[in-house]
Amino acid sequence: MAPTKLHVLDCGAMSCDLTWLLLKPGRSIRTRQDKQRPVEWYDCTTHAVLVETPEGRLLWDTSCPRDWETRWEPTGLQDFFPYDQVDEQQYLDTRLQQLGVGPGDLDYVVASHLHFDHAGNIKDFAKGGAKLICNDKEKEFAFGFDGLFTGAHLKTDYEGLEFETVSGDTELLPGVTLIEAPGHTPGQMAMKVDLPQTGSMIFTSDAVYMGDSYGPRTVAAAIVNDLTAFYSSVEKIRGIAEKSDATVVFGHDSAQLRSMKLAPDAYYS
Ligand SMILES: [Zn+2]
Repeated sequence: MAPTKLHVLDCGAMSCDLTWLLLKPGRSIRTRQDKQRPVEWYDCTTHAVLVETPEGRLLWDTSCPRDWETRWEPTGLQDFFPYDQVDEQQYLDTRLQQLGVGPGDLDYVVASHLHFDHAGNIKDFAKGGAKLICNDKEKEFAFGFDGLFTGAHLKTDYEGLEFETVSGDTELLPGVTLIEAPGHTPGQMAMKVDLPQTGSMIFTSDAVYMGDSYGPRTVAAAIVNDLTAFYSSVEKIRGIAEKSDATVVFGHDSAQLRSMKLAPDAYYS
């Protein structure tokens, strides 16, 4: 049976230098004529997606934590990506409450990848009985490095959790497919949801940050684990999107997110 409802949860925004997301000459990288022009700061929106299906309820990503300022302190991320554009209504736990969903009401919590701004609340769901899912290459990398933190992986977010892993493209539930899209991280995934009314939607997470990254032609970002893999994953997603006539929803595109049907007022079906 196909998914019945898809809720997009707007969890507010971090603030950051646009250069992190978009290495674009003339936009985020300055020419000498623009030496004096100030750095462009960007509303780096963060969202989660709740998918309701007859076979179970799935949460895609868990956004940033309420205690970001202290949790991120050992990393410096709190200064580069302050999660400072969020109100009480936008924190993930409140967003789920607005839909009448508690941590124990989920069957699957899928991490697109385990970066600090996607796995920030995943520990909240471990006790509720939901299966925690990530890609096998993501798990290997995220648990495999020395120390507390590397790049944008912070072990505090996910250490001690038991993940079930998927590998390759996987139809996790009827109409819900996890697409392996490495490059940003070794086990980055996108999610395709096939809805009866809306048609297909693809949530790219950080495989594609913004419409401006998608192009064509594709614009790279500052945080990329493997640039060649990153480019081929973007083309893989583009191919699937064209074939399925899907709406592509980018990981951190504030203008796009704010133009969507958002929970709790509206949903896709
Ligand atoms: Zn990321």
